[in-house]
Amino acid sequence: MTDKYDAVIIGAGLAGLHCARLLAAGGASVLLADRKEDLGTGVHTTGIFVRKTFEDFDFPPGSLGKPVSRVSLYSPSLRRLDLESGIPEFRIGRMGALYNSILDECVDLGVEFLGSTRFLGSRPDPKVKGGSIVRLESGGSKIQVQTRVLVGADGAGSAVARDLDLDRNKEWIVGYEEVLKRKDGGGEPVLHCFLDADLAPGYIAWIADDGEECHIGVGGYPDRFDPRKALEEFKDTVAPLVLETKGLETIETRGGRIPVGGVLKNISNRRGILIGDAAGAVSPLTAGGLDPCLRLSGYASEAVLARLRSGNPGFLVNYSGEMFRSRFLPRILMRSLMRAMRYQTQLEFLFGTLASSPGRWLAEKIFFRRASFPEIGKSHPVRRIALNELRRP
Ligand SMILES: Cc1cc2nc3c(=O)[nH]c(=O)nc-3n(C[C@H](O)[C@H](O)[C@H](O)COP(=O)(O)OP(=O)(O)OC[C@H]3O[C@@H](n4cnc5c(N)ncnc54)[C@H](O)[C@@H]3O)c2cc1C
Repeated sequence: MTDKYDAVIIGAGLAGLHCARLLAAGGASVLLADRKEDLGTGVHTTGIFVRKTFEDFDFPPGSLGKPVSRVSLYSPSLRRLDLESGIPEFRIGRMGALYNSILDECVDLGVEFLGSTRFLGSRPDPKVKGGSIVRLESGGSKIQVQTRVLVGADGAGSAVARDLDLDRNKEWIVGYEEVLKRKDGGGEPVLHCFLDADLAPGYIAWIADDGEECHIGVGGYPDRFDPRKALEEFKDTVAPLVLETKGLETIETRGGRIPVGGVLKNISNRRGILIGDAAGAVSPLTAGGLDPCLRLSGYASEAVLARLRSGNPGFLVNYSGEMFRSRFLPRILMRSLMRAMRYQTQLEFLFGTLASSPGRWLAEKIFFRRASFPEIGKSHPVRRIALNELRRP
């Protein structure tokens, strides 16, 4: 046993990185551990940021691609609905560069980063109220560290959630994609979305093209399709109909599980908290989880800093999924609808409805609404209590 930290964060994806920089900026000593050596490798997300996220948060220069303001939605028989907003709606993150740039910021703020480090487990620290002794395997050696708060930012299948006996994700879709680079960088930015019960059961297939980088992918319920085979078929049969593949070179494949059951209820106890995918903070409708990583980490960091400043672990317990769950209900209902669509005829009908004049309004609302993970105002009781504690001299 050597080191003591105010907070140990497991997982340096977007949620863990953002939380680390906020805690360090708030004066906490932070250890950030990830099993990856280099955060720029093994990226699993497409990285599409919606308008509200890139308007509300600062991004390092060069970490976002060109703006996309056009969406084409396709039925299984490839009928097409074009939607154009006229303003930037999406930007595809250059995720490796983004992660490493936030990590640099964290290190400048004093965060200690341990790469190639796996979380093994934790137990209560008998000497510190709410504290934990955390076991890690770092570069082949087993080490232990003490912390006052353990933060689980370790993704959809969180080991920290299991270790702290908190809620765990139960409903998933999987996504699998290829990333292609355009040599001349001169393509037209469009987000193509395909409804297809075979190639993307319960979700969509996509070609997200910002003119420089193009992501071709499929997503759906893992018990209903084989993502690798579906991607091959999608690339061979559908993608060439809408995309000029000449000059495109495959540079990466990405994939992973996406929790779509909505934010979990029990995401904290006196010893720790969950953020990002570990907390189920993903839109059940769009499967977008990047905006929630940033917003939920913001609320979590207030609770953690209040807990550290006051010495009272009760501040962590206030941080609960209940604050957000009711706001997820419409998206959970839409997810049930998507899950129930098992046949191409149903999706043709859904497409037909969206392509009608009233349906088009709904489609534009879904794709172009300035929406985000539910926001909690500063007057919300939970935030107010934490912020009052942080304001005390
Ligand atoms: C194919 C795909 C495409 C997607 N596309 C989009 C999109 O375009 N837009 C959008 O908004 N959302 C998208 N999502 C969802 C979004 O990517 C996630 O919600 C988001 O990246 C979650 O971030 P996170 O920091 O919570 O977790 P992660 O990014 O999963 O980070 C978890 C980190 O924890 C580390 N880790 C895990 N276990 C351990 C352990 N035991 N010990 C140490 N380290 C550990 C991992 O190495 C990883 O770095 C997509 C998801 C997938 C799978």
